[in-house]
Amino acid sequence: MYIPCGPDFQRERERFALRHTCEECTFFRVPPDGTEPVCAHGWPNAEHRRAHYDAKPELLVFCKEFEIP
Ligand code: SF4
Repeated sequence: MYIPCGPDFQRERERFALRHTCEECTFFRVPPDGTEPVCAHGWPNAEHRRAHYDAKPELLVFCKEFEIP
């Protein structure tokens, strides 16, 4: 489910150092072939990546499988 991702979210993301992206998730792992890290579940994750939120999108979508290591 998408929700608006306004300036309040971006301010709070920085202020509280929110962790919510793949790069901060225990399931974001380097595959056996040593290439770039991917979601261990194989989810399409473009909208969960840090770069996506650094680009200040209009919509926010959290991953239900996100887990802090
Ligand atoms: S479980 Fe979700 S947050 Fe974690 S790496 Fe996969 S897509 Fe990203």
